[in-house]
This record gives sequence, C-alpha cells and structure tokens, in this order.
Amino acid sequence: MRIYSMMTNRLTNPLGFDLGTPRLCWKIDDTEGRHQSKARVRVAADESFSDILFDSGEREDLDSLSVPLNLVLSSRTRYFWDVEVTDDAGGHARSDAAWFETGKMDEPWRAKWITAPVTGDMILSRKFAVETPVKSARLYATGFGLYEVYINGHRVGDELMTPFCNQYAKWIQVQTYDVTDMLTPGRTEISCWLGNGWYMGRFGFKGEDKNCGDTQAMLLELKVEYENGQFDTIATSESGWKATESPVRFDNIYDGEVFDATFESPVNVPCELMPTLDYSLLRDRLSPPVRIIERLNPVSIFADNNGDTILDLGQEITGYLEFIPRAEKGAVLKLYYFELLQEGNYYRDNLRSAKQEYTYISDGLCVPVAPHFTFFGFRYVKLEGFSNPTLDDFTGCCVHSDIQRTAWFESSNPKLNRLFENARWGMRDNFLDVPTDCPQRDERMGWTGDAQAFSGTACYLADTQAFFDKFIFDMKSEQEMHDGAVPHTVPSIPFLGASACGWADAAAIIPWNLYTFYGDKTLLEKQYPVMRAWVDWLKRNDDAHGATRLWQNGFHFGDWLALDTKDGSPMGGTDEYYVASAYYYYSTSLLVKAAKVLGKDDDAATYSLLLDEIRQAIHREYFTPSGALAQTTQTGYILALFMGFAPEGSREKLAALLKRQFEKSRGKLNTGFIGTAYLCGTLSDAGLSSLAYSLLLNEEYPGWLFEVNMGATTVWERWSSLLPNGKVSDITMNSMNHYAYGAVMEWVFRSVAGIAPVEDTPGFRRALLNPRPDERLPQVSLRFNSPTGIWESTWKIEDGKFVWNITVPFGATARAIFPGTDADAFASLYPGLSVVSGPGGLSAELDAGTFEYVYPYNSND
Ligand code: BGC
Repeated sequence: MRIYSMMTNRLTNPLGFDLGTPRLCWKIDDTEGRHQSKARVRVAADESFSDILFDSGEREDLDSLSVPLNLVLSSRTRYFWDVEVTDDAGGHARSDAAWFETGKMDEPWRAKWITAPVTGDMILSRKFAVETPVKSARLYATGFGLYEVYINGHRVGDELMTPFCNQYAKWIQVQTYDVTDMLTPGRTEISCWLGNGWYMGRFGFKGEDKNCGDTQAMLLELKVEYENGQFDTIATSESGWKATESPVRFDNIYDGEVFDATFESPVNVPCELMPTLDYSLLRDRLSPPVRIIERLNPVSIFADNNGDTILDLGQEITGYLEFIPRAEKGAVLKLYYFELLQEGNYYRDNLRSAKQEYTYISDGLCVPVAPHFTFFGFRYVKLEGFSNPTLDDFTGCCVHSDIQRTAWFESSNPKLNRLFENARWGMRDNFLDVPTDCPQRDERMGWTGDAQAFSGTACYLADTQAFFDKFIFDMKSEQEMHDGAVPHTVPSIPFLGASACGWADAAAIIPWNLYTFYGDKTLLEKQYPVMRAWVDWLKRNDDAHGATRLWQNGFHFGDWLALDTKDGSPMGGTDEYYVASAYYYYSTSLLVKAAKVLGKDDDAATYSLLLDEIRQAIHREYFTPSGALAQTTQTGYILALFMGFAPEGSREKLAALLKRQFEKSRGKLNTGFIGTAYLCGTLSDAGLSSLAYSLLLNEEYPGWLFEVNMGATTVWERWSSLLPNGKVSDITMNSMNHYAYGAVMEWVFRSVAGIAPVEDTPGFRRALLNPRPDERLPQVSLRFNSPTGIWESTWKIEDGKFVWNITVPFGATARAIFPGTDADAFASLYPGLSVVSGPGGLSAELDAGTFEYVYPYNSND
C-alpha cells in the first residue's frame, strides 16, 4: 500500500497559509484492498514524532478527503503529521511525514509599515550583519502594491505578483518564506522592490490608477534563529532602512513596464513610517503561489508585410517573454505583446486601452531579462530595437496560479483534443490569483459570471479548491461591504455594481461545486455564510419589490453574448428577468442542499419553503397550464430543464420544444454565457445526446470546432470573435482568451467520457459512469485524478462492439451504465455481474478496481 498526495487544505506542505481549521487529506494505491477500514492521524511538533500533539487513535470514521484538525495552533510553528491506514484486505501502511507551518497568525508585528519620499517605484533596503551560522530563518512580508524581496541580490522565493489581487480595503495577504539557506555569516543586504499592481496601478473598467491607495509601502519581518540558540529580528522601521528610485521606471498591469538597466538613482534617502496603514488588515495568505509554471520555446520569428519583426510563440499564454538583450549600452528594446495577426500583420486593436508593452534600456550586459510587476496575454510579440533576434534568445514564460493538473483527455477527433487543450489553456491563462475574464485587454478582472460558468470544468481540469477558496473569501469580504450583494467582479477593484443574475450567483454555485468535487464538508461549512448571505440578499430584494418570488428588477447581463439577440444588444434574446428568476430559484436550491448536508435543519426548512414559492411563481409567470414555456429561446428551455423548476411532468414536452428550436435554427446553437454552460449536458439528460454531439462536432460557425479550425489556441470570448474570413468581428469587446464557452468540457467529461460526480457521495468517493457514446466519435479516453484517486474511462466503438475500460480508485464505488446493450445480451457475456435494468439503461455496481467490458453495441439514439 502506498499513501500519497498528502495535503493540508489541498496544498502540499503549506508554509504560512491561513489554514483556519486545517483539513488533512491523502490518497491510497498499490494495494489489494478496496477501502480504508481504519486510519490514524498523528500530529507532532517534530519530524520524528516524539512530541505528539494529537493522536486520533485508530478510527473507522476518518475521511481521507478531509480530516479537520481541532488543534489550537501557535504562530510561526511547523506541525508534522502522518497517517496510518489499514484496508479491508488487511493491507497496511504508514505514510511519510507531511507538514504545515503557520505564519504570523495574530502575533503582533515588530515591523512597521514604511515608505519613502521618492518618485515612482522605490527600492527599500537595509544592511545588517549575520554574526554566526543560522539554524533557521523565516521572512514574513507584504507590501502595497506589489513587492519582490532580494537578499544579497538573490530573489527570495519564486513567486510573482505578491501580495496578489485582493480587496485591499478589507484584507492584505502576508507571505512567509523559508530563507534559511540564503543567510550566511557576513554583511547582508535585504532589499524590497515595489511596484504598482492592482493596488495603485491603472486597473479596472474606468482605467483609473490609485484604485486602492496612492503610496507604495512595505512591511517585513525577518526572524532568525542562530545555531548558538540566539534569536534576532530584522524588521522594517524608520531607522536603518534607505530608499532609492527603482530602475523599473514605469509599470502597471495593463500597459506593461519600462526598465532602465542603466539607471542610477539620484536619491538615497531614509525611509519613513506609514502610520496610517492598518495592521488589522493583515492576514496570512490564502492564495496558492503564482509563478512561472511552464517555459515554451517560440516557434518562429518573421517579418510581417509592414516589415515589423514578429515573434510567434505558437500558443496564447499569460506571462511574458524572458530574453537575452544582445544590445549596446543605452539601446532601447521594445516588445509589443498581442493576440493575433490580421492579414499576416501586427494587430492590437482588440486590446483596447491596454498597451501591453515592455521597454528595456540596455546596460550592455547579456543576462536574461523579464518584467517584474506585470503580465501579458499574448501569442505574438512585435520586437523593436533587436538586431537579428534569434529564437534561442527568447522563452515564453507561462505565469499563473500553481494548481495541479488533474485531467488527461483524448479522443479519436484531433480537433476535439485541441478544444480540450484550448479550454485548459483558457483556465491556465486566466487563473492568475483570481479567475479572470481575460488576460490581455484592459479588464483581467474576476468576473463572477465567467468564473461560475467555468467552475465545474475547472474542477475537472485542476485541483482548484485552494484557488477558489481564496476567491470565495474575497467574495465574502465584498459581501460584508455590500450588505450581502455580490459585485460583478471580485475583488471589485473598483466597484462596478453588484447583484446581476448568473454573475452574483457564483456565491452559491462555486461553493456547491467545490463540495461536489472535493467532498469537504468543513470547507462547505466555512463557505456556507457566503451562499446564505447571497440568498438572503435575493429574498430581501424580492420582499422590497412586492415579494413576488420572482426576480424582476435591477441590472442584468442576461444570456451574455448570445446570438439570438434582437437588437444587437450583448444581453441575448432570453428575457433577463426570466433568467434572473431562474437563478433566484437555482441559488436557493443549492443553499437548501448545503443546509441539508450540514445538518442545518431550520435553514433547510426555511429555504425549502422559499424555493417552493419561487417555483410556483415561475410556473404562474412563465408556464402555460399544460407545461409549455413562455420563453421559447434555447437558453429559456435549457434553464428550465437544467435548474429543475419546470412543472412536474413537463420535461418531455420541454425537451421536444427545445428540439424544435434547434430544428428552427437549422441545428445551430445561439446561446450565450448562461445557456452555453448547461447546453450539451441538458440535451444529453433530456435524451438528446445526438444533438449535443452535433453541436460539439460542428466545424462551422457558430461552434467550438469552428474556432479550432480558425487556429484558436484558447477559447474565444465570442462565437464570432473571428469571422470565417479571418477578420476580427468587433474591437470593442473581443478577446481570444475567455474561458466561459470552454465550459462545454464539463459535459464532455461527465457524459461523453462518462465520469460524473455524485452529489450525495461527493469528492468522487463515488461516481456515475454514464458515457453516452456516438458513432461520430468512436473513441474517447479520460483519466481524472480526483480527490479520491485516479478514475479512468476509456471506450471505443469498434467492429460493432463497445469496448469499455474502467478504473475505479481505491476508496471509491461507481454505478456504471452500459450504453447500447440490453439485459439479456449483456448478462450472457457477464453472468457473474449483477446488473439492473432501469430508466437510464442497464447498470451495475462497481467497487475499486480495473474492469474491461466488451459487448455488441446497438446505437439507439
Ligand atoms: C467581460 C466578461 C464579463 C462581462 C460582463 C465583459 O467585459 O470581459 O467576460 O462577464 O463583461 O457581462
């Protein structure tokens, strides 16, 4: 038996995180057994486990998905933990030690906030002596806006864009670094480079700067333990710290950076205190690290028709180029980052006001160069000032939150495989501390609607729990400022408005998705107040508008960018107040589910009542007595079917009406951000899988593979981002890297590959294996590294046979539904398997293990 993937709060050996109640998890493989029968968790103050702080004893009820530790934690302390597991076949193992280390927690700061009277970006530094060998050293740091710390010229850690993107009015994240190896006896200099970032650089819809503040500042405490048993603290303060102007002469997130390597600061002045800054905003970090996750080699450098030198990375990424500046001292090198060529030429109109430029003034040295305080969304870069640039001098650095990949998908259709990659890149490029809409133009904000639509897909693609937990914490901070309302973007830098349906509902949808995918009740308990505050806002708003139990007021984005719009508006053709009422129902239904899981019986009863009233109100307003729907758009039907508010017995009728809508549109989709997220899944569940496949595999406009055919390497914002002739359709709002429509992959994982979570046994402790094959896609394979373990579903239709290979991980069970067969035919082949015939088809219960089923296949769609 092997115990692996030991994590705390779904982070591997987290250092300095705000863990709340720490939640431990692990996985098991390499054993004959199928289920954990007993486990024992120990927590100790030392790696050899001689000083035990907690011992659960052998227990049958320790859930490997999440064991909450009710330990009182001390600040700046490392805790070691291990787990011993016995399985149902007598297998047994004890894990290696894992650890988590607390940060400053509530410990008062010796350090003081400092700044300096210098122009532009500043570097604050201090010299000190390390007298004797160091046993251990930790650096606790944060800054306004962005900061980097160097010790004797070496970068501390490899994280970028710290202290990340927060609602700075409510909280600011403190990072902890282990710097033991960076401190050796002798003269030492610590320097902090400051940049503008989200805090005070140009950012947000209005394109203004100083959204959260107007002064750069730093707070840092270096805690040193010497081998001789003595301790020392080096902290920011008004004495001993000096400031210079930075060679970063300009920086913000949209426009880029100017770096002058020849710059010599005209000033070197003492630092000053920032007495106005509030220490109560400080909190140990929640954000997973942002760093360079992958390096790509560019594919070509060429001259376009205008004679511009263009570098092509071959893939749209978020990050920047690192390059070797082969240039004389004083030479100016410029890089213009952009997404796509038009007629083979440099093109940047769809970036709107974001300049996306990097300027480097060379000091004549050939050392790798990269920006400090910005990032770009790009595939291409126009190079200026480089003489004879060669590919070898450039590397594409993909910068995003460090979240672990969990899905591997392949099918017989290479274009679908590319779509999978595009959706994955869309996530990677847009998960830079917050789930953003896009990484290139003057937005890059945590648009809640995009995030909720994509969240299910994201939970397949990567381990997103810690990433989304930080986002939900941001959301909670916003709700505290807006009476439970959820802003359109989180964090709202600056505030643009709140409470739009399908956007604000992220507050209910994302926590529920996290629970479904990760099965962590303690986390659901933590996030429940966010769900409830949102539904309470909805109800209060409703009560203030006549208690109709519909949502018929306020501003909404509607079915954003749907193609069935009447007047060219981006809001789509489905009535916004119908969409709003649907979400009123949907969010309330998720809250009821959460209340039930958490044993909050009073809440469950209260909100179930509300849910009934909303359902009845929707029936009165939008359905005919015989169950037809007054909203006859594709999205109208999809919401009724998906969200479950359709009148009893009307599903078949609605499915037939939806099918008719598709006949009218000649089989083409016209849904926007809202309808598309649920489109194919709803069709499949309504018995219209064949139509869902037609939409998925359609290579013409509008459709996912149209984009692939047009050379997309990410997912477009609009179905028509590029026209069939390759021209950009619109420049006011048109990105090549918006993940919302990539949400179709959730259906591909659930219903094409056929590995779906089961809400009442969450965390993939159990799955529904229910592929709905289609002969147009004869081969599909998904490998999914779920919180419980690795699931696989690989099937093919070959020579009239269905060949299905399944892996159910240790600790899990599944119901497998065998497509395209009947009970008798199947039973004769697998007499030992106990199968059940039900409305969904022929099924069997599977325990952990690997399985192969081969049987004659009848397509009956
Ligand atoms: C963003 C979106 C967002 C939308 C609001 C756009 O500008 O890029 O993706 O959700 O506004 O409808």
